[in-house]
Amino acid sequence: MTQRTHRGDTAGNDAAVLDRDGLAALIAGLSAAGFSVIGPRIADGAVVLDEITDIADLPAGWRVDQAPGRVETRPADPDAPPHLFDTVLPAQGLKRYLYPPRRRLWQADRDAAGGWHLSDEDAQPPPALAFLGLRPCELAAVAVQDRVFLEGPYADSDYAARRRRAVLIAVNCTRAAATCFCASMGTGPRATAGYDLALTEIPDPDAPRFLAEAGSDRGRALLADLPQRSADPTDRAAADAATAEATRQMDPANGGRAMIGDVADLLRRTLDHPHWDRVAERCLGCTNCTLVCPTCFCATVEDETTLDGATATRWRRWDSCFAVGFSYMHGGSVRREMSARYRQWMTHKLAHWHDQFGVSGCVGCGRCIAWCPVGIDITAEAQAIAASEER
Ligand code: SF4
Ligand code: SF4
Repeated sequence: MTQRTHRGDTAGNDAAVLDRDGLAALIAGLSAAGFSVIGPRIADGAVVLDEITDIADLPAGWRVDQAPGRVETRPADPDAPPHLFDTVLPAQGLKRYLYPPRRRLWQADRDAAGGWHLSDEDAQPPPALAFLGLRPCELAAVAVQDRVFLEGPYADSDYAARRRRAVLIAVNCTRAAATCFCASMGTGPRATAGYDLALTEIPDPDAPRFLAEAGSDRGRALLADLPQRSADPTDRAAADAATAEATRQMDPANGGRAMIGDVADLLRRTLDHPHWDRVAERCLGCTNCTLVCPTCFCATVEDETTLDGATATRWRRWDSCFAVGFSYMHGGSVRREMSARYRQWMTHKLAHWHDQFGVSGCVGCGRCIAWCPVGIDITAEAQAIAASEER
């Protein structure tokens, strides 16, 4: 398996320093330009991606801890450095904005003369959205979804339109959750591509600030309009040290999490391994893992007709390979056993995605681990299969 290389420092980049007023000016400028700014905020006791209008909406003073089957949102320790973005990943990423969970594909309405009027959903312009606080694994997931939806003979026009308008502002990770393993997937904790702007939070109690790097012409134009100063070696060193700390936390030698090497080859040769049955004994088939995964893209199509027969609508809705009905073909489902469904998901993510799209379908965000109600852990399942081969 080829893993992406990942540069781990800011050397050689054009970089500026923004203070919190600069960040506020960024949000205000995007709003003035007609964008809805979507960023992390606390709602219902969890961190979600939602509209923000000011830095006061950001989860300052909050911390999220994650473990297999557990997500805890709590006030940060009173003596913790002054972070605005210490909440790792929201439950849902920007997938639901670029590829909505439910989308009307078309609607037909009967007209007075008994004919039909067909509405064209693609005629509606998508909302102009600017995403603030995207984690590097999230950017990697967007790159994966770009391959799925934009490349090849069947591009998704709705995704393309939403993607074209979206402004992507990353915040590099300075703390890894216990479920994160982006370092082993080559996707983080520092963003190297796919952003308009990338910020690294330097939570200096005397001078909280952000190292800001532009990654596109749009990002350079945004940055040029903000109150700022040039980055000096102290700023760069502080930013590099902050992201290096997240890498250190993910190192298994420090109790962190990593995906085993050569996992694709391992899974290709262990399709009949008894471990699939052991996972199936725990798996509830709830589909949480696929719904929170930023790269899963399976959908189904549903038709709806009003009782008076005047309107017919076709919807696209997220589906999951964990649902029995997902593999239904004439006469029954192909993957009736839970073991077959879990194996399908994990081998697709980590092995067959490479054959299909040339990249891994997993970016190491760890959401499927945290949000699995029984704590099934994709890294641990791979390790268990590898360990049994070694015996
Ligand atoms: S498979 Fe799990 S860790 Fe990998 S990208 Fe999906 S949710 Fe994240
Ligand atoms: S692996 Fe966990 S989250 Fe996924 S379907 Fe099974 S029980 Fe649900």
